[in-house]
Amino acid sequence: MSDYIVLVKQVPDVSQITDNAFDPETGTLVRTRLASVINELDTQALAFANRMRQDSNDRTGKIICLSMGPPMAEEVLRYGLGRAADIAILLTDRALGGADTWATANPLAFAVRKIVKEILKNDSDYYVITGMQSVDGDTAQVPPQIAEELSLPCIAYATKAEFKNGRFELTRIISGGSQVVAPKKLPVIITVAKYEYPLFATFAATRRASKVQVIRWGAADINAVHIGVTGSKTSVIRVFPPGKTSRKCRQLHDVKDLAAMIIESSKGGDDKTAQKGDGQKRKYVLPAKRANKFDRSFEGTEKENEDYRLLADTLKQLGIKDVTQIDDAAQERILAAVGQRFHKKALEDMIEGFKFTEPTFKKGEVWVVAEHKDGAVHPATFELVGKARELADSLATKVGVVAAGYQLEPMAKELIAAGADNIYIIEDKLLRVFDPTAHRKAIADAINAYWPQIVLYAATPQGRMLAPMVSYRVGCGLTADCTGLDIRDNSRKGDIGLLLQTRPALGGNVMATIRTKSSRSQMATARPGVMKRLPSDYSKTGKVIRHKVELSQNDVSLEIIKTETAGGGVNFNADVIVSGGKGMQSRDNYDRLLGALCQALSRKLQTQVERGASRAAVEQGFIERAHQVGQTGTSIGPKLYVALGISGAIQHMIGVANTETIVAINSDPSAPIFKQCDYYFVGAIEDTIPSLVQALE
Ligand SMILES: Cc1cc2nc3c(=O)[nH]c(=O)nc-3n(C[C@H](O)[C@H](O)[C@H](O)COP(=O)(O)OP(=O)(O)OC[C@H]3O[C@@H](n4cnc5c(N)ncnc54)[C@H](O)[C@@H]3O)c2cc1C
Repeated sequence: MSDYIVLVKQVPDVSQITDNAFDPETGTLVRTRLASVINELDTQALAFANRMRQDSNDRTGKIICLSMGPPMAEEVLRYGLGRAADIAILLTDRALGGADTWATANPLAFAVRKIVKEILKNDSDYYVITGMQSVDGDTAQVPPQIAEELSLPCIAYATKAEFKNGRFELTRIISGGSQVVAPKKLPVIITVAKYEYPLFATFAATRRASKVQVIRWGAADINAVHIGVTGSKTSVIRVFPPGKTSRKCRQLHDVKDLAAMIIESSKGGDDKTAQKGDGQKRKYVLPAKRANKFDRSFEGTEKENEDYRLLADTLKQLGIKDVTQIDDAAQERILAAVGQRFHKKALEDMIEGFKFTEPTFKKGEVWVVAEHKDGAVHPATFELVGKARELADSLATKVGVVAAGYQLEPMAKELIAAGADNIYIIEDKLLRVFDPTAHRKAIADAINAYWPQIVLYAATPQGRMLAPMVSYRVGCGLTADCTGLDIRDNSRKGDIGLLLQTRPALGGNVMATIRTKSSRSQMATARPGVMKRLPSDYSKTGKVIRHKVELSQNDVSLEIIKTETAGGGVNFNADVIVSGGKGMQSRDNYDRLLGALCQALSRKLQTQVERGASRAAVEQGFIERAHQVGQTGTSIGPKLYVALGISGAIQHMIGVANTETIVAINSDPSAPIFKQCDYYFVGAIEDTIPSLVQALE
C-alpha cells in the first residue's frame, strides 16, 4: 500500500494581472495586489497522485496534502480535500517567511519527515509528488532540494505514470526527448511537468472536506535547521521591471502585406543582438587592478556607483591621494563639498570600503558543469564556457569544466577551444547515462575537492534537476534560470567580486538580481540561448585533470527503461524555418498546409526552408521529434522564423531567441506569441495559409 504526500502551494495569479498591480514609481509588480490561487502544476500533481492510487488498485493508500504558507494558504488545502486528499497539513509560522528555495526545501523536508514518522508510522512505501515548479518562483529547485535533504531519488518533469508488474514506470521530459524510468526503491520524489486530466471537486468530497480539520504545524513542531530569511543562502538585491522587447510586435491585417513582409525579412540584416539578456557590457576589473585606487564604479546599484563617483571626484579636487589621508578634518571637507548627497555614516562606510580589494570568494576557479550525451556536448555548455571565460578573466582566475560520465576525454579538446583552461573528468561506467543521484554525488565530490568560486549549470531539464541537488549537498545557495551574470562589488559591506545573478520572476513580469550568501561557492543555472559561445580557438591549450569518485550500484537511483530522443537529418542552419504547433490540429494539416507554405517560400526565396515544430505538435505526432524547437528541442537562429498555431510558451521561445525576424500566425488575438514576435496575423491556419501561399506566388 503506497501513500502519497502531495506538496501544494498558494501563488499569486499571474495570469490575471491588472494595471494597478504595478507600482507606479518602480514599475514592478506588487505581489500582494494579485489574487491568490493554487499553483496550477500542483493541481496536476494532485491529479497525478490520485491517478496513481487508482491505477495501483489500492484504495487504502492515503493522499496527504502539505502546504507551507500564511494562514490563508489553507484555501489550497481545502482544494485538495475537496478532490482527492484525505489529510491536509499547513506549515505556517512567521519565522518561515522570506525564505529562498534552500530555506523552503529544508522545512518542507522536515515536515515530510514528521508525516512519515507520525502518520505513515515510518513505512517507506510512499511517494512525494509536486508540481515541477511554482509560477511565482519558476525555479524548479525546491523538489530536488527536498530530495537531497531526505536522501531520496528524484524523478523530475514527469508526464505519465503507468502501473506495470506491481510498480510504476514514469515517463519524463529530458533534453531532446522523453524517457521512461522506474525508481529502484521507494520512497521517491516526483515532479509533474504536465498532466492534462484535471480533478473536479465532487459534492461528497466537498462536504467531507468542509468537516476535515486542517492540521497546523509551526516552526517549533518540525525543528527545521534552515528557515526564513536567516536560513536562506541567497538574497535579492533589487527587483526591477523587465526590459521592453525589441521585437516590433506589429499586426498585419492583409495577407498580401504578410507575404511582402515575409519576403523582405528573409533577406536578413535585422540585428537582434541588442535584445539579448546578457549583451556587451563594460568588463569588470578587480579593485586592485584599477588605474585609480578610488575607482568604485562596479557597485551593484547605480546609486552606489554615483555616490562613489562623486566621492572619487571630490577626493581628487581636495588633492587626497591615499585613504590614510582621510582624517576627521578631511571628512568634514568632503561632506561640505558634496552637499547633502550623503551623510557622515555613509561616508565612513564608503571610506571603509576602499580598504577591501580582494575577492570575497577567494581564489577558486569559475566552473561549468558539462551536459553531454553520447560524446556530444550540449550547446548550452559551450555558451556557459563563453560566459565563464569572461567572468574568470575579470576575476583573474581560470575556467574549469567538470564532466561526469564515461570515456569523456575526446570532449576536452572542443571545450578547451571554446574557452576552458582545465577539464575535470570523473569517469565511471555507472555514470555512462545520466542518473541524478550518481551524477550529483560525482559533481559534488569534485566541488568539495577543488572549491571553485563560481559554478554554472545550463538551465536544461537535466541542469535544473542536478544543480539543486549538488548545491544543497555542498551547502551553497543557487539561483535558477539566470539571463544575466555579472561581477560586481558591494564595497561598503566589504564584498568584492560578487556574482550578481539576474533572472525573470513571477512569470517574467519582474526581474530580480540576486546574490549568494553564507556559501563557499556561488552557483547559478543559466538559460540556454542567452549567453554567447566564443569562436573555437584550437591553438589554445589546457589541462585534463582526472578526479576519482567511489561509486557503487547503490548510488544509482533509477532504472532506465526506454529513452526516446530525436534522430538527425534536420537542417536547422537554414535561413528560413517554418514551425507548426498544436494549432495545426492534425498531421494532415501539418503536412499539407505547412508543407505548401515551405514549398512556396523555398521557390520564391530560392533557399532551403526547414520544418520545425513545438513540443506539443511533436507529442501530437504531427512530425518527428528531431524537428522540435525549444528548450528541450533545438535552439535556432534563422533569418526568418514563421510560427503557425504556436502559443508562445517560454520553453518554445527560448529556442528562437536568436532569430532575426519572427512571424506568428494564430487564431487567438491574445496569443502570448504576439507579444514576442515582429509581425503577426490573426487568423485560422486553414484559411490563412492557402491565401498566403497564393500571395507569395
Ligand atoms: C520541461 C519542459 C520542456 C519543454 N520544452 C519545450 C520545447 O523544447 N519546445 C516547445 O515547443 N515546448 C516545450 N515545452 C512545452 C511548452 O511548455 C508548451 O506546452 C508548448 O510549447 C506548447 O506548444 P503549442 O504552442 O504548439 O501548443 P499550445 O500551447 O496548445 O498552443 C496552440 C496554439 O494554437 C492556436 N490555434 C489553435 N487552433 C488554431 C487554428 N486553427 N489556427 C491558428 N491557430 C490556432 C491556439 O490559439 C494556441 O495559441 C516544454 C515544457 C516543459 C515543462
